[in-house]
Amino acid sequence: MSSVTNELYNLTIHEAADLLAKRELSSQELTRACIERISRLEPQLNAFITVTSHRALELAEAADLAFKAGEATSPLCGVPMALKDVIVTEGVATTAGSRILGGDDRRRYIPPYAATVAGRLRSVGAVLLGKTNMDEFAMGSSNENSAYGPAHNPWDVSRVPGGSSGGSAAATSAREALYTLGSDTGGSIRQPAAFVGCVGLKPSYGRVSRYGLIAFGSSLDQIGPLTKDVRDAALVMEQIAGVDPCDATTLDAPVPKYTEQLGGDLRGMRVGLAREYFVEGMEAGVKSAVETAIKQLQSLGAEIVEVSLPHTDYGLAAYYIIAPAEASANLARFDGVKYGYSHPANSIIDSYMQTRQDGFGAEVKRRIMLGAYALSAGYYDAYYLKAQKVRTLIKRDYDEAFKKVDVIAGPVTPTTAFKIGEKVADPLTMYLNDVYTIPGNLAGICGISVPCGFSNGLPVGLHLQGPVLGEATILKVAYAYEQATAWHKQWPEL
Ligand code: GLN
Repeated sequence: MSSVTNELYNLTIHEAADLLAKRELSSQELTRACIERISRLEPQLNAFITVTSHRALELAEAADLAFKAGEATSPLCGVPMALKDVIVTEGVATTAGSRILGGDDRRRYIPPYAATVAGRLRSVGAVLLGKTNMDEFAMGSSNENSAYGPAHNPWDVSRVPGGSSGGSAAATSAREALYTLGSDTGGSIRQPAAFVGCVGLKPSYGRVSRYGLIAFGSSLDQIGPLTKDVRDAALVMEQIAGVDPCDATTLDAPVPKYTEQLGGDLRGMRVGLAREYFVEGMEAGVKSAVETAIKQLQSLGAEIVEVSLPHTDYGLAAYYIIAPAEASANLARFDGVKYGYSHPANSIIDSYMQTRQDGFGAEVKRRIMLGAYALSAGYYDAYYLKAQKVRTLIKRDYDEAFKKVDVIAGPVTPTTAFKIGEKVADPLTMYLNDVYTIPGNLAGICGISVPCGFSNGLPVGLHLQGPVLGEATILKVAYAYEQATAWHKQWPEL
């Protein structure tokens, strides 16, 4: 493990922004440092599906011109970043980690439009380095379900970086990009952030536009940042959050200046501790790191209050009905006709069937079948409707808890990063990774993972959950914790 040296790729967004604004650093230098790092590390990490070096240098040049002309106003201007390959990028291939969109080079899906988040970052001069690896259609917890091969954990390349935003997490932690965006349907930003030791924020449902995010579970999906520290997460949120006429589910609430609310101690802050989160089977090192972190919050002035989230245990079961049900409908559109993988056949129906048979991976097909079954006549009430009722109970648990506390603290995952291949044969143990993160998606609340130590040499994440639109609060608590510790200054040696 190394402390941050003076290499350019080690800079945080806010450090780079200061240097860029003072014109002590150019975006082209910074971008080149990242591109070199990417070409050096990718053979080991496979964090990217597409690298757009040429385009990145053009964007960097444009950013440098904006600085020169005094027209650069955003701290994200000229800062190199990468987007999970489920976020559509105009003119840049987008595969969602799937063969069905990738196809061969000639038929690869090149979106004619940009996702709202991509457009917002672009409009302030952000430099896109490429698209990051992920579990196919964001289904998975290890990145092993990618059609483009697994991504590797920068702390130990024989281990997974988590998933489904595994490439985004690996790229951030390996400092291939200054930050990345991921998506979180059941934990896919927070779990990989915990596994690689970076900050990962899942915003409240509706806080960030999903327009141009290839849908998995539309009532659960959210886009959010993976960053080196909490201030960076706040900076990115200021740019990507907010109402969007292209996504009717976005919340029409003003976007706070999150960065201005960072700082100060935690006096008056009530931090909830849910007894349901400290269960048997949790890795001892994870448990002790999280418990120590909670004591630290207390010493920073927070009041620790016990809360109860009695329906936590049912979260996984409800999620694995609702998410596949939504996925089975969302994925019905992929037919190989216009782009991506296509299997010619004698009839159109045969072509659809063969295309979907070969174009989707095993996990995606498992989810489509589970979802179609749960929605089918005769089973709908028993499964889907029941799961929706459980979802309401989980939401009510949080509503009750947030009457008593400002945030809820706990672990992000029961274990640290596991070995590549260790859980592939057993989908159920794989699903268990998300026991602590899934309930928050079902309730639509926000959550953040912050590095809080190591267990057997692998990073551990502290999970801070807040109510709907509670991003400013979880960022404030996370920041106070981070500033009082040094975990965010430790990066894997590569
Ligand atoms: N691991 C969970 C799943 O496989 C969550 C994925 C996600 O958040 N996109 O569904």
